[in-house]
Amino acid sequence: MRRPFVVIGLGRFGGSVTQELIRQGAEVLAIDRDDAKIEAFREHVTSSVVADATDEKVLKELGVHEYTHVIVAIGNDIEASILTTLLLSELGVPDISVKAQNDYHARVLTKIGADRVLHPERDMGTRLAHNLMSKNIIDY
Ligand code: ATP
Repeated sequence: MRRPFVVIGLGRFGGSVTQELIRQGAEVLAIDRDDAKIEAFREHVTSSVVADATDEKVLKELGVHEYTHVIVAIGNDIEASILTTLLLSELGVPDISVKAQNDYHARVLTKIGADRVLHPERDMGTRLAHNLMSKNIIDY
């Protein structure tokens, strides 16, 4: 049976996804190339590894293909985000969610096999505007 979640990149976005999955009782493998990030999460996650997710050999050794959902939360390094997504797709991970930096990044991610492309800042901005507008309508 497949294991549930891998989060790659423990920045603000990946860290918050990880915390909420754990809060809801999920098993999470966390991967980050920064050992300080891994240290900060070590006690909370099921397992954590300091590793470069763009290294195919490392992904295979970690058995990432045995997990159902992989969340790629690498932000600024678009090349690393794309390469990691491509490797996960080639390894046959069934459900890949990836944080995108911009629309071009998002288009590439979709083409190479991302199942879900996320724009956290843009989506939060849209949601805030919706909330403010609906409050405004109620206020009048
Ligand atoms: P956020 O907005 O979510 O804080 P960000 O968009 O600023 O993140 P980064 O800080 O560049 O994105 O990356 C998020 C995390 O991904 C960092 O903790 C970084 O160490 C990790 N990361 C970046 N590249 C890799 C990689 N190749 N392998 C593993 N982890 C990586």
